[in-house]
Amino acid sequence: MSYTSSASERFTPDPVSKQSEPTKFQAITARNFDAIPQVQRLTDDERFAIRVVSSVLPFRTNHYVVENLIDWGNVPEDPIYRLVFPQRGMLQEQDFDRIADILVRESPRQELDHAVAEIRARLNPHPAGQQELNIPREDGEVFEGLQHKYNETVLFFPSQGQTCHAYCTFCFRWAQFVQDEELKISAKDDERLHRYLAAHPNVSDILVTGGDPMIMKTRVWERYLGRLIDDPALDHIQNIRIGTKSLTFWPHRFVNDEDADDMLRLMEKLVESGRHVAIMAHFNHGQELRTDIVRDAIRRIRDTGAVIRSQAPALAKINDDPDVWARMWREQVRLGIIPYYFFVERDTGPRHYFELPLVRCWEIFRDAVRQVSGLSRTVRGPSMSATPGKVEVTGVQEVRGEKVFVLRFLQGRDPDWVARPFFAKFDPQATWLDQLEPAFGEERFFFE
Ligand SMILES: *Cc1c(COP(=O)(O)O)cnc(C)c1O
Ligand code: SF4
Repeated sequence: MSYTSSASERFTPDPVSKQSEPTKFQAITARNFDAIPQVQRLTDDERFAIRVVSSVLPFRTNHYVVENLIDWGNVPEDPIYRLVFPQRGMLQEQDFDRIADILVRESPRQELDHAVAEIRARLNPHPAGQQELNIPREDGEVFEGLQHKYNETVLFFPSQGQTCHAYCTFCFRWAQFVQDEELKISAKDDERLHRYLAAHPNVSDILVTGGDPMIMKTRVWERYLGRLIDDPALDHIQNIRIGTKSLTFWPHRFVNDEDADDMLRLMEKLVESGRHVAIMAHFNHGQELRTDIVRDAIRRIRDTGAVIRSQAPALAKINDDPDVWARMWREQVRLGIIPYYFFVERDTGPRHYFELPLVRCWEIFRDAVRQVSGLSRTVRGPSMSATPGKVEVTGVQEVRGEKVFVLRFLQGRDPDWVARPFFAKFDPQATWLDQLEPAFGEERFFFE
């Protein structure tokens, strides 16, 4: 797919307020973090902990994040520091000690690899049956790189988008960043994607995700999405969502990367073809919204006619405070972003470090939503993306003397489950759906 020059000329992006020169992306990883000046502020113990934890869990950040988003005077408590830098508590103590010991003894590589593989396998690398349950089959062949769990929406994981500009320490897709080929889910095949979509006229939404698909060059995007503009067989695909954290980790992608304007033009063409184009932006903390360049990026995306919706999980030590959410939503609405999902941290990776009891998630959500006007109350949650569907913790209530969680499906593997309230015994410690039991002495939940 390529654009005629007249189409290109139509989109004249606004000038940017600063930094119109392309900025070079510089990754910071386990290999080179020790050399960056900011890291010199950390203690020897903290730096060693980064080495230990990053042997097991992925670690990658970049200069933009380190120089603009982290308040180094507030490290290690700084939320963005915690969002990208590995910390000791992310491994269980015995696992940490085991890896630390191997590193100190400078044991053979095999011993390290063996220990790392064992620890990773215990961290539930593929939560919510992602690997077995949701991958569609086509002529008896599995279609790697697609998930089709809810009727109306197909998730697409392009193989070129299976990494990110930086990694979030809590990420539920961590397994695919540690190069375990077997665990990866992704697809390169644009023809096959288009065939699948054409064969499913009931699908209205495609959600391109990753990793972070905005890591892909615009010409790759054109291969995947360009067809939607002029192929009548794909007319039923009305909504195009792009799940990304690039507004936080690399807003240059929309401002002054080499192909930034081309990307905006592609989005504009999709909008002109009658599509709803949504950037599903992942923001964990208001600190991510404070730079000039992220504001430029937001404005430029909105100028194409695309909308930006925001989503994020509630995380201990990063945003477990209603005021953080209320401030962030207010700021988002002011910038033209629509708050969308408030998630419960998933049951994988270093969950013990970040997880919050469901009751706490609900309290944070309630106390945040109370403080904001209706324009921010488009947000839904707390929502668990669990095996049967997305389950909202609607609240805690006492019904005939029994304290219960009121829950409902926002999305269900079976659409009949959606919007039906159901009840679980109150459990102040529970952090995920699989820890809940039905209320009122029932044997099982209605969807089991
Ligand atoms: C969240 C999710 C979607 C999108 O659900 P919406 O309610 O339409 O936002 C689609 N597929 C999967 C697997 C999801 O987890
Ligand atoms: S940007 Fe998204 S996919 Fe990438 S590490 Fe963060 S949460 Fe995971």
